[in-house]
Amino acid sequence: MEVTVMKNILGENDRIAAENQALFKEKNVYVLNLMGSPGAGKTSLLEKTMERIKDKVRMAVIEGDLFTSKDAERIEKHGVPVIQINTAGGCHLDAPMVQKTAVKLDLDNLDLLIVENVGNLVCPAEFAVGEDDKGVVLSITEGDDKPMKYPLIFKESAVAVLNKVDLVPFCNFNLQSAEEDIDTLHPGMDVIEVSCTKDAGLDAWCDWLLARVRAKQGK
Ligand code: MG
Ligand code: ZN
Repeated sequence: MEVTVMKNILGENDRIAAENQALFKEKNVYVLNLMGSPGAGKTSLLEKTMERIKDKVRMAVIEGDLFTSKDAERIEKHGVPVIQINTAGGCHLDAPMVQKTAVKLDLDNLDLLIVENVGNLVCPAEFAVGEDDKGVVLSITEGDDKPMKYPLIFKESAVAVLNKVDLVPFCNFNLQSAEEDIDTLHPGMDVIEVSCTKDAGLDAWCDWLLARVRAKQGK
C-alpha cells in the first residue's frame, strides 16, 4: 500500500519535472541540482564558483533549506540572483517547489541555474526537479564508506565533487577506495577533488560546469 502511494507521488513529481525541463530548454538555461549531506560544503562550493564564473555566465541560484535563509544570504553577497525555498521541515526539494520558484527568475537572461538541495544524501536523489544534471558533493570528513552506503545519489549524479581534500591526512579517508567505489556504482562518472577552504581544484570544477552550460546551449 505504501509503495503505491510513493509511486504516485513520484509519478506526479516526474510530470512537473518534465514541465520544468521543457521550460528550461525553451529558455536555454542549464540547470544543475546540487546535492549532498549537511556540511559537505555545497554553499561553500557555490561561493567559490560564483567568484570564478559569475562574470562569464549569467547565473542564478535556488536555495533549498528546511527553515532558514542563511545560505541564500551568503549567495546574495556575491550579487547573484537567489531565491530561497523553505521546505518547512521537508527533507528534499521537489519539482512543484522548483516550478513555483523558477518562474520568478528572469529566465530569458540566464545561462546557468544551480539548485542547492536540502542537505541530505537520500531522497533528493529520488526527486527530479527538471535539472539537466544532478551533482553530489561528498566531503572527506563524512567517511569513505558513504558512496556504497548511499549508492543512488552517486548513480543519479553526473559529477561527484570530493570536498575538503586538504583534510585527507587528518581523516581516515581512503581517496583511492572511495573513488573506486564511485566508479563501480557509476562507471565513468566525473569525479573532481576540491578544497574550498584552500582554494584547490576549483578551476577544474568550474571548467566542468561551464562545459556543461556550453554543451546545452550548443556553443
Ligand atoms: Mg548549504
Ligand atoms: Zn526527503
